[in-house]
Amino acid sequence: MSFSDEEVERYARHLVLREIVGPGQQALRAARVLIVGVGGLGAPAALYLAAAGVGALGLADPDTVGLSNLQRQVLFGVDDLGAPKVMAAAARLAALNPHVEVTPLDLRLDEANARELVAGWDLVLDGTDDFATRLNVNRACVGAGRTLVSGAIGRWTGQVGVFPGRPCYQCLVSEAPPDAETCAAVGVVGALAGVIGSMIALEAIKLIAGAGEPLAGRLWVYDALAGEARTVRLPADPACPTCGVGADAWPRSRLDGAGQSRNFFR
Ligand SMILES: [Zn+2]
Repeated sequence: MSFSDEEVERYARHLVLREIVGPGQQALRAARVLIVGVGGLGAPAALYLAAAGVGALGLADPDTVGLSNLQRQVLFGVDDLGAPKVMAAAARLAALNPHVEVTPLDLRLDEANARELVAGWDLVLDGTDDFATRLNVNRACVGAGRTLVSGAIGRWTGQVGVFPGRPCYQCLVSEAPPDAETCAAVGVVGALAGVIGSMIALEAIKLIAGAGEPLAGRLWVYDALAGEARTVRLPADPACPTCGVGADAWPRSRLDGAGQSRNFFR
C-alpha cells in the first residue's frame, strides 16, 4: 500500500534514511507493538513509536496519572491527573499521529493473562518497574515467540537489552530480588527516563525496519552521573527456567536459530 502525500511529508526524514526508506516505513506501518507499562519509559517510547508511524500500539498499564508522575512521564499533563494512564496516553498519541491505532489496556500483566495478550502483538516493549511483572512478560514473550525489548532505570543509571529468545531476560535476572529498589523509594532523574525510553523505541524501530544490529544478547548500561556507557555480553543460562535446558515453554527451533538469524521481528 502506498503512502498518501500527507504521510510522505510526515515521514520525510525516515524516507530519506538509507536504512529505512519506503520498505522500512511500510514495515513500521504494518507493525503491532505492545508497550507494557506507560510510565517513565513507556511514555517517551510511545510518543516516539507513534511519531515514527508504527501502525498499531497496545498500551498496558493499570495505573492513573499522579502528580509525581509528571516529573518524567512526558505523555501527561495536569489535565490528565486522576485519569487512567492508558486513556490519557491514547488521546495524546491520537493528537500526535492519527494514523496510529492505539489500543488502551487498563490492566496489569500477570501470569494468567500475559501469554494470550503478548501473542496478539509482533513485538513487546517492557518499561515496568517491578520484577514480578518483568519475569511474567519475559516468559510470555519466550512462550509466544515474540522478541522483548527491555529497559530499566533507577537513580542515575539505566539499561537496555533486546531478548529474541535465548538468552532471555530471566537469564539476566534469575528471580525477583527480595530487596529490589524502586524508583519511588530511591528516586530517578527524569531526563534519564527520556534516554532509556527513547532507546527502547529506537531498538524497536531498528528491529521492525531491519536496520543495523539490535542489542540482542547484549546489555547497554548507562551511568548518567559518570557520563559513561558500556555494552556487556549476556550469556544464556543453561539452567534458566524459561529458556534453558528442560524448559518447555518455548518453540525450540526459534530459540536455536535466534543467535544466527536476523529475523528478530515477529
Ligand atoms: Zn533464559
